[in-house]
Amino acid sequence: MSETSSWGPCVSCKWWQIEPAAAVENTTMGQCIDEDLQPFKLRVSGNSGCNRYMKGEPARAKGSSDRPPSAEPAR
Ligand code: SF4
Repeated sequence: MSETSSWGPCVSCKWWQIEPAAAVENTTMGQCIDEDLQPFKLRVSGNSGCNRYMKGEPARAKGSSDRPPSAEPAR
């Protein structure tokens, strides 16, 4: 279990991973790299969210917005 406990949006979550040049916006699509959620290959917008949220800057990797995401988790 990670140390998260309350709901928050992907746009300000450290487990959100987006394309290298993508804008940090609600409509940007990326993947969730929370360790326990990685097997599900969740593709989420900045406006998505969950209760594993942890405040931070997004990670960046090419392929993060593919369907399904093809990037390796950067953290
Ligand atoms: S789905 Fe949850 S853990 Fe994953 S990036 Fe969004 S808020 Fe963070």
